[in-house]
Formats: sequence, structure tokens, C-alpha cells
Amino acid sequence: MSKYVIFLGAAGSGKGTQAQVLKTQLDLIHLSTGDLLRQAMKDKSDLGLKAQSFVDSGNLVPDDLIIELVKTQLLSSNALEHGFILDGFPRTLAQAEALDVMLSDLSISLSAVVLFDLTLEDTVDRIVGRRVCSHCQFVYHINSIGDSTDCSNCGSKDSLVHRPDDTKEKVMHRYDVFKSQTEPLINYYKHHLYTLDAAQSPNSITTELSANVF
Ligand SMILES: [Zn+2]
Repeated sequence: MSKYVIFLGAAGSGKGTQAQVLKTQLDLIHLSTGDLLRQAMKDKSDLGLKAQSFVDSGNLVPDDLIIELVKTQLLSSNALEHGFILDGFPRTLAQAEALDVMLSDLSISLSAVVLFDLTLEDTVDRIVGRRVCSHCQFVYHINSIGDSTDCSNCGSKDSLVHRPDDTKEKVMHRYDVFKSQTEPLINYYKHHLYTLDAAQSPNSITTELSANVF
């Protein structure tokens, strides 16, 4: 039976990684609002152009645009047949309420809402220790690569960089924003909520999700 699942988690919680793995294993649709927005802006679709104007002026893309973007994808992809993971949506109560309407129009109901729970300390450690290849975007952690700056994924020399946004102060700020945004959603979804210890290894998390959620 198809599963309809929401992933909630701060940047660094590993939800994107799990979505990628499960998408392949279970042949699900992975709807990441970040990816959808980037694609729409690249394609210069009507929605993309509207979103671009908010991004250019440094503002958040408003709820109604995000909702429209997700709705278009839900209707046009095979999401209903295959099941889906929503990643980065809903982020606000207004988005959650709009999602309820969409699902009800489509006569489906949510299977689960998974909260990737990670302490502030672990989140800071993961993101501040992150090194990203400036050529292929592959992500490493200093715990496994030490001082090396060469990318074993694409073979580039001296290409691993510490992103300017990956500082302790910025991570702490993003974590606070995530917490305050997510608190109302946790309450809204309390009957569907599955809280996952996101400090586990990626393999353990995949096993747990396959056994209990999918
Ligand atoms: Zn690389």
C-alpha cells in the first residue's frame, strides 16, 4: 500500500539523505520544496518567476506560492500511486491546513509524520564539521576526512570548502527558527507523529523507518 509521509527536521538532521535512500528503495516520490523552488526558478515558470522576486529581495517565499507549487506536483506526478515523502513542507500551520485540504480532495490520508530529532549540540557538530566539494557538491565531515581537501567523489584536488553559512552562530540561529516554526506543527500532527532519534547512523535510521513507518 502506498505511504504518504511528511519528514520534519532541521538542516543537518539527515532527513534529505533518508528521503533519497527510501525513494530509491521503495520507488516513492520525494517532494522537496527546496528542490521544487530551485527547479521552478531555473525553468522560469510563472510560479518560479514569482518566487524569484521574493528570493531576490531577501524575503521568504509566501505560503500561497509554496502551497501552489506542492499542489501542482502532487497532481502532476505519480505521487498518489507510488506514495510520497514531503521534505520541507509543510513548514507553517497555514501550509499544514492547506495540505489537509489537498489530501482530502484527493481522498487520501497521511500515513505518518516523522520528526528527525537531533540536539542543538549534535546539529552544530554535524554542520560546522561539514566540508563540501565546490565542484560536485559532495558532502564530507571532518570526522572522517581530517584535514584533507581533496574530493574522492569527483577526483578534484583542493576542492573541499567550508561553506560561509556553516558557522556555529548561523547554525544556532537556523535551529532556533526551525524549533519555533515546528513546535505548532508537532502539536497539529500529534496523532500521526513518529519521533526518531536522528543521532543514529544513517543505516540504522533507514532500518527503523522501513520497519515502523514504510
Ligand atoms: Zn567533488
